[in-house]
Amino acid sequence: KTVVIDGNVIAEEIRTKIISEVGKMKKAVGKVPGLAVVLVGQQRDSQTYVRNKIKACEETGIKSVLTELPEDCTEGQIISILKKFNEDTSIHGILVQLPLPQHLDESKILNMVRLEKDVDGFHPLNVGNLAMRGREPLFVSCTPKGCVELLIRAGVKIAGKNAVVIGRSNIVGLPMSLLLQRHDATVSTVHAFTKDPEHITRKADIVIAAAGIPSLVRGSWLKPGAVVIDVGTSPVEDSSCEFGYRLVGDVCYEEALGVASAITPVPGGVGPMTITMLLCNTLDAAKRIFL
Ligand code: NAD
Repeated sequence: KTVVIDGNVIAEEIRTKIISEVGKMKKAVGKVPGLAVVLVGQQRDSQTYVRNKIKACEETGIKSVLTELPEDCTEGQIISILKKFNEDTSIHGILVQLPLPQHLDESKILNMVRLEKDVDGFHPLNVGNLAMRGREPLFVSCTPKGCVELLIRAGVKIAGKNAVVIGRSNIVGLPMSLLLQRHDATVSTVHAFTKDPEHITRKADIVIAAAGIPSLVRGSWLKPGAVVIDVGTSPVEDSSCEFGYRLVGDVCYEEALGVASAITPVPGGVGPMTITMLLCNTLDAAKRIFL
């Protein structure tokens, strides 16, 4: 029987701990962690993600500051806002909501976030330090960190296991592969150019699916007993749902049941963990200063 790994329950446990630690910090030093969020443009998905992040901050006692900029803003405008937050001692974490509009140089902008405040873990030095043995990143990006946390809390041993990561984006797939290597897994990467992804996936004890393609991973792709973490969230039309669509993962959930030993559902798996890891990173950033 396949165990369903409940991301909502695990995220809630972690958030309860964060609330208590923020409370302790307030008592000890009279201050709370602060997160600055920069949102450019009107993209609906991004607005929803940002709203959820700010709500999560409110619920855990973390201060949040939102700066919204118009779609046609300049790199200079964003950089001057980042410089202000870099210097602001009440702000411990800064995040720039991605994707940015086409005319903006994403890597140049992410490079401007002070390393000690890079709670999304997207600064090239944090990614580089994640990749290099013997070095420690200050922050690991939230979705991969959330996936590993789910594995650990579900009692899955990572060391020595064959893991496959499907996808290699800067935000999810690439840092996911690096992080699993740090946990001593043997990691394969499957991407859009991979020949016979099914064959590679079937060898894996741990499958992390992050391609953003609904039902890409069929039940037949899975080794019996594999643990499956489904990062994908693609909207598919469904008139019976509130907004006319529902979110589906990269894995054929029904087919995976009975083959996998454990699986995360979509929604309710990785999603709640991503924001929770952002809260953890912001708390850690403040702890480095205050405690
Ligand atoms: P992306 O589009 O930037 O990257 C997709 C990756 O998948 C690419 O590396 C590409 O090479 C690979 N890919 C494309 N087609 C493939 C195929 N047929 N076979 C194998 N690999 C293929 O997307 P992303 O930002 O990495 O996000 C991936 C998915 O994860 C999306 O559905 C996104 O919505 C979701 N996501 C969820 C969370 C969460 O918190 N739940 C967070 C971030 C992203």
